[in-house]
Formats: sequence, C-alpha cells, structure tokens
Amino acid sequence: MKADLFDQRRLLELQAVDTQLSQLGQRRRKLDADPTFAAAGQRLRVLADKAANLSGDLADLDRDIERVEREVELVTKRAESDRARMASGAATAKELEGLQSELESLARRQGTLEDDEIELMERREGVESELAETRRQVEEARAVLADAEADRAGQIGGIDAETADARSTREALAINIPDRLVELYERIHAKQPVAAAELVGRRCGSCRIEKSPADMIPIKSAPIDEVLRCEECGCVLIRTELPQSKPTTLASEEELKKYT
Ligand SMILES: [Zn+2]
Repeated sequence: MKADLFDQRRLLELQAVDTQLSQLGQRRRKLDADPTFAAAGQRLRVLADKAANLSGDLADLDRDIERVEREVELVTKRAESDRARMASGAATAKELEGLQSELESLARRQGTLEDDEIELMERREGVESELAETRRQVEEARAVLADAEADRAGQIGGIDAETADARSTREALAINIPDRLVELYERIHAKQPVAAAELVGRRCGSCRIEKSPADMIPIKSAPIDEVLRCEECGCVLIRTELPQSKPTTLASEEELKKYT
C-alpha cells in the first residue's frame, strides 16, 4: 500500500490516542473491581449484623428484668398481706405458724430474685456498652464507605471526561487520514494494541526488536510513500527520521529523495 508519509505519521497520533483510551479503560476497570471497596462494604455488613444481634439481646434482657421485677412485686405483696394477717390477731396459732414459715420462704425467694435482677442488670450494662461501641463502629464504617464511594465517583467522572475528550480527538484525527490507511490501522488494531509504531534507528517502536542491517536494506530502499510493516509484530512501521514538514517546493522534493 502507498500513502503519503505525512499521512502515515498521523497514524502515530492516532495510536497515541488509542493507547491513552486503553489506559483509561484499564483505570476504569480497576476502579470497578477495587477490592478495598468490597472489604469496606463487608465490614459494614458484619458490624451492622452485630449491632442488630446486640440490640435483640438487650430487648431480651429488658424483658427478663421486667419479669423478675413483677415477681418481686408479687412476693412483696404476698409478704405484706401475710404480715397484715398476723398483725390482725385473728389468726389461730397453727395459722400463725404457717404464715411465719411462708414469710421465711418468701424472704428467701425475694433474695434469689434480687440476686437474679442484679445479675441481669450487670449483663444488660455490658451488652449496652458493647452495643454503643458497635454502633459507633457502624457509623465509622459507613463514613469510610461513603468517602470511598465519593472518591471513586470523582475518579470515574474524571476518567469519563478524559475518555470523551480522547474520543473526540480521535475522531478529528481520523478525518484527516486517508480512509484506506485508517482501515489498515483499524484492522491491525483489532488484533493488537499497537497498530502503528515509529522506526527508531533499526528498532521497531512496538515490539522493540532491532532489525538486522540486511532487514534494513528493503526498508531503506522502499519509496517514501510505501506503507511498511514490521516483520516481527505486524504493525505499520513509520519512518520519522526523514524531513519533518511536508515539502512544498521542488527543491524540497529533491531533498526528500535523498532519504529514500
Ligand atoms: Zn515490531
């Protein structure tokens, strides 16, 4: 294929934009798969579950305490009524004996219930402080996650804006390159990330393999508008060590021929 060398060189600009686009895509994918993000979400879920369990334990303990308190109240009332019966003077000696024995048993029962209540209160205190600490950790984890989310959203926004810019640059570049050349480039680019590279000395800018002096003979003798391909990697090889600006006069055309 033949194409103006200056059009060929534009492929290098196209390649630079495509390389940029591929790097932007990689950055975007890396952000989407960020493991620290999943870890922060997991930590939040674990802590929230723990807080819910502790909250349930606290409600159970409150019910137990309430039950013990109600029982204490019943025992106290019963003891009061027994004492009132004893003080009334209406009870027989046998009844008094029975009441006395019941009062002793009620006192023991009350002592046991009060011990139980103290134990329940202590457990409640422990669960309550653990719940407060867990809720604090939940808030902290939620803030960490929200920060990470905001940070990621910001980075994604930046990447998306850069991508949009690069795409319009690419479009503008491609318009100024002959279709046949762009088609060739696209065909190669579909197979490999680098479709056009500079020939630097004897080295291909894509695969970095240095050509032997023998390999250089056809390259050097190729007409200036011949589209060259790297034998190793298949990319379009662009000669840049030739005049940098498009010749406009016959004299510079002559100048150009010296390099071919
Ligand atoms: Zn190569």
